[in-house]
Amino acid sequence: MTGYPFSDIEKKWQAYWEKNKTFRAKEDPKVPREKRKYILDMFPYPSAAGLHVGHPEGYIATDIYCRYLRMNGFNVLHPMGFDSFGLPAENYAIKTGTHPRVSTEQNIARFTSQIKSLGFSYDWDRLISTCEPEYYRWTQWIFLKMWEKGLAYEAEVPINWCPSCLTGLANEEVKDGLCDRCGTPVTRRNLRQWIMKITAYAERLLADLDKLQWSESLKLMQRNWIGRSEGANVRFAIAAGDGEIEVYTTRPDTLFGATYMVLAPEHPLVARITTSAQKTAVQDYISAAAMKSDLERTELAKEKTGVFTGAYAINPMNGNKIPVWISDYILISYGTGAIMAVPGHDERDFEFAKKFDLPIVQVVSRDGSTYPLKAAEPMDGIAVNSGEFNGLATAEFKKKIVEWLQKKEIGRSAVNYKLRDWIFSRQRYWGEPIPLIHCPKDGTVAVPYDQLPLRLPEVAGYKPTGTGESPLAAMTDWVNTTCPKCGGPAKRETNTMPQWAGSCWYYMRYLDPHNDAVFSSREKLDYWMPVDLYVGGAEHAVLHLLYSRFWHKFLYDIDAVNSDEPFMRLINQGMILGEGGVKMSKSLGNVINPDDIIRSFGADTMRVYEMFMGPLEVSKPWSTRGIAGVKRFLEKVWRTAELPLNNDEPSETLLRLLHKTIKKVSHDTGKLEFNTAIAQMMIFMNEVSGLSSLPRKLWQPFILLLAPYAPHLAEELWEETGGTPSVGVQAWPRWDEALTVEELVEVVFQINGKIRAKESLPSGLGEAETKEKALGNARMKELLDGKEIHKVIVVPGKLVNVVASL
Ligand SMILES: [Zn+2]
Ligand SMILES: [Zn+2]
Repeated sequence: MTGYPFSDIEKKWQAYWEKNKTFRAKEDPKVPREKRKYILDMFPYPSAAGLHVGHPEGYIATDIYCRYLRMNGFNVLHPMGFDSFGLPAENYAIKTGTHPRVSTEQNIARFTSQIKSLGFSYDWDRLISTCEPEYYRWTQWIFLKMWEKGLAYEAEVPINWCPSCLTGLANEEVKDGLCDRCGTPVTRRNLRQWIMKITAYAERLLADLDKLQWSESLKLMQRNWIGRSEGANVRFAIAAGDGEIEVYTTRPDTLFGATYMVLAPEHPLVARITTSAQKTAVQDYISAAAMKSDLERTELAKEKTGVFTGAYAINPMNGNKIPVWISDYILISYGTGAIMAVPGHDERDFEFAKKFDLPIVQVVSRDGSTYPLKAAEPMDGIAVNSGEFNGLATAEFKKKIVEWLQKKEIGRSAVNYKLRDWIFSRQRYWGEPIPLIHCPKDGTVAVPYDQLPLRLPEVAGYKPTGTGESPLAAMTDWVNTTCPKCGGPAKRETNTMPQWAGSCWYYMRYLDPHNDAVFSSREKLDYWMPVDLYVGGAEHAVLHLLYSRFWHKFLYDIDAVNSDEPFMRLINQGMILGEGGVKMSKSLGNVINPDDIIRSFGADTMRVYEMFMGPLEVSKPWSTRGIAGVKRFLEKVWRTAELPLNNDEPSETLLRLLHKTIKKVSHDTGKLEFNTAIAQMMIFMNEVSGLSSLPRKLWQPFILLLAPYAPHLAEELWEETGGTPSVGVQAWPRWDEALTVEELVEVVFQINGKIRAKESLPSGLGEAETKEKALGNARMKELLDGKEIHKVIVVPGKLVNVVASL
């Protein structure tokens, strides 16, 4: 008996697949639409750390599914690439002086060899990398199209600023007030920015979620991020002089209870309305607020702060003069940057009113009576202290008051979104140059399409200047150019695109990776798109998955793609935790390196183990014992394959087991329930491994079932049984339904030795289950009602006798 030589087998078949391009996808027009599948993995960022065990989990799942689909006659597109622009390569360049391109290429080479060592059936001819000029030419092309339509605009706005990375960040890149890349607390800074008008698509991004087969939790994350609310915009006149303050409220029914107003410190009215007596206090407050992030100002703020401007506004409902304050818990970026404060029915306003001794008026009541408020009561109820509207229920009041405001021309119904426009420029080097030119005569002018790609120039240093300019600004030869419109001297835009730009559309470049006329031919888009199944981490819920839907919808609107959603079905794989169920991390020293696992156990064992750990979507802990168990299973397969083959008919029992196994593995693999499919293959092996010789009719179908899971081992065994490679292109075995049906036996049910009922039960039912069936039988239940059962005698497959007192 020889050991299971996984290392030799795996190298042999990986070389075979590569040489023969076994898994190349072709656009065969004869394959009908329903037999084409586009199965996509979230492509990795090629970090210096290499692949970790979390990466392959999703890749293994899609690979098994793709192999299963191909064996079932589907034409499958399954590509891989690299999301290769981004901060880590640049930070590494600053530290070591290595050009980001060099370190990125090294990392890509390492990732590629690691990915190949797991035997994935990618079509490697379609490999893409977002930092290649042939690729980012089209990222720039899409950007220009969006700019032409007014979806990319320039503005000086306060943005999230990472003082360590020295760059601006999108809201989506700030986690709990910290930079998503380096963990430094984010501050605010006013900077000239390129901004993408994602808010123009808010309604469609929200509504079209209903079309998608995504998990409800993921859809909810996007819904909450978009944060649609319905309410009214209302204008309050300023008491002294002219002007008015517009507010957005979701509770226009509480207008009578507005006892003061609050503006964001950045609100443009602040300077105009502040009285001279309050000027110093207001200015000091504004300077302090500018240093804080949105999160520090809102969720993290323990105590409300604020300053009175000295000005008053008029409550349009009751004519009351109400004071106007500023406070940093109001964000300029949400609604109108100003609120009417209703302390009786809003917790934040209540807190603020208590602290600054501002009046609190009840305008909503639980039962229509008035009572002193001990805390804010933000619930719906009956209107009180609301003049002619008293007695109205909240929903009705809302409708009536909006009509009233519209008639008086002081307000209108309004929809608001929490979603902000996307801060799109980065003051960094390693990203796509924004293909725009600033001309003193013509303003902003696009780099002509036939001059794309606008290549990223070589720079001497990568260190960001910290002045809000990217290192490109120092490249005067590159920056100084001529205006494409007037031919006069002009300057290039020096900001670069964010990491997320390249991944917004990469799934379409795979379809046509070498096309230099369009980003992807319409013919190929029509053949494959949209993506049938997308698998990746949930951490991209409001970043990549929102941004790419936005770009895709835009491309649909300009008739460049055939679908208005890119990813029809999406699955987030669960996290792989360290042994003991804690997160894997360098500091805990519990990080598992896939290279080590492949070296000691083999790629097939790692593939089967990661899928056997549990359902794909749940998080699960790594177990050294578990992987050893899976290795023993594959060793058993290897040893069993050494038994002599025969051409005999298998026994009825084994034939039934085979067909049950084919049925279960087919069903479960099709539903991505890989762990239970593997368990069934283990049951099969336990029976078959004890034989003295192997019926070919039993063994060959089993090898086919194993092929998507342990493809190297299956190729080797397939060849041994006389099959021609590749096992990956063989037809999936079919089961005979008749052989999967349980055999039934008649079991008699007795009471005190007398036959009272009969039932057909599956053969092989155990003692406990047979007893349960007898006691659950309707006739038996009726006869035993009110009787005391002393004893139940069970002879499985034959009879059950209940001894009871009569
Ligand atoms: Zn940072
Ligand atoms: Zn010009």
